[in-house]
Amino acid sequence: MTSNVIGQEIRPSESIPGSADAVIIGGGVMGCAIQYNLAQLGITNTVLLERDVLGSGSTGRSQAICRMHYSNRVTTQLAWLSLRVFADFDARVGGASGFVNTGYLVVVNEADQGGLERNVAMQQELGVPTSVVSQDDLARLAPMVTLYNDERAAWEPESGYADPYQVTVAYAARAREAGARIVTRNPARGIETDGGRVQAVTTVNGDRIATDTAIVAAGPWSKQMLAGVGVDVPLLPVRHQVATVARPVEVVPHHPTVGDISQSFSFRPDGSNFTTMGFGDDEEQSDPEVYPQGVDMSEAASARAKLARRVPGMADAYYRGGWSGLFTTTPDWHPILDAVPGLDGLFCAVGFSGHGFKLSPAIGKAMAELVADGSARDVDLSPLRFTRFAEGDLLESSYRYRVLA
Ligand SMILES: Cc1cc2nc3c(=O)[nH]c(=O)nc-3n(C[C@H](O)[C@H](O)[C@H](O)COP(=O)(O)OP(=O)(O)OC[C@H]3O[C@@H](n4cnc5c(N)ncnc54)[C@H](O)[C@@H]3O)c2cc1C
Repeated sequence: MTSNVIGQEIRPSESIPGSADAVIIGGGVMGCAIQYNLAQLGITNTVLLERDVLGSGSTGRSQAICRMHYSNRVTTQLAWLSLRVFADFDARVGGASGFVNTGYLVVVNEADQGGLERNVAMQQELGVPTSVVSQDDLARLAPMVTLYNDERAAWEPESGYADPYQVTVAYAARAREAGARIVTRNPARGIETDGGRVQAVTTVNGDRIATDTAIVAAGPWSKQMLAGVGVDVPLLPVRHQVATVARPVEVVPHHPTVGDISQSFSFRPDGSNFTTMGFGDDEEQSDPEVYPQGVDMSEAASARAKLARRVPGMADAYYRGGWSGLFTTTPDWHPILDAVPGLDGLFCAVGFSGHGFKLSPAIGKAMAELVADGSARDVDLSPLRFTRFAEGDLLESSYRYRVLA
């Protein structure tokens, strides 16, 4: 018997079939979106194994900001396709995504102005509604936000945030309705291979599911899972923190979601009267089994000071609480979405760093197409291929605050 990250004993939710057309390891937003999309393609004889409960990894801790501002085309495309799903989730998938359209403001200082302009031009080419904004524009769009003399900003009117847990359980429910199986509280132990092919997935409870297709979407645990079949992936879990403050609504009734590259943090409204802030040291490596899950008060205080500098009306906001979660980073802070070379039938959707949630609808679809047909239909995933690190062909960010990538 195993226990979860908060020490509860975990028992399997149901028995397991002896074989499946595909086994998905990990019940975060990615695993569930992939399973749902496989079902949409007619592949319903699948099993998703989750070690704890759905959404209990990085997904449940996510700040869930949805924006398209990136330094490369593939991530912008995945985010833009996904945003349209979040905004129309009930009609497209079924269920609630909790999407709230707040608009998104990205703020940079002088050193990053060239990057901001390049990124906005690239986004506009891809059809994303966005523009660089002047002080006058900002006074109209977000008068509560202060932009200092050496800073520039860009605006995305359609962006916002969603609810990562609701999205995950909605994908899972729709997959189950289509006939797919989801077994929680039953961790995969390993992937059996023979002759360079996937043969089965085994669980810590002694089950064996014969299959020729295994998809690893195990978030911060993915490195260990892949190491079990001799595959080395450059994944590093890094702790990131989220703190909530109560907003003085008489002074600041609302504000947009802000990627404050200038001050290396982000914030967004949380419902009608709270604001969440995301911050952390990009280099703080963590063990997914044991890491501090609360908030460092000195860092929360520093984030509050940054918030008050950006939105002076928030100076009296009071600290309400917070949590930590893990980014699963790669050397270029972008995911690996690919078949694993050298092992037929093994796929991975891993390494989402600080921005997987906003991409999940498009990644679920693209990964399902990759598994079913050998390639994704809407987006060329080759910039996110497995071999790019060995080839030295990493994606590049315009910014030094890599969460904003
Ligand atoms: C604090 C924080 C803030 C974030 N903010 C944003 C944001 O604003 N916008 C955004 O787009 N993204 C954000 N992210 C990133 C985003 O949440 C993640 O990229 C995304 O949730 C990754 O989903 P996943 O399904 O790959 O991983 P996870 O959610 O970690 O899911 C992996 C699952 O696999 C399970 N698992 C592990 N090992 C096994 C096993 N052996 N057998 C079975 N199951 C197993 C785990 O229990 C877990 O549930 C944030 C992340 C954090 C931590």
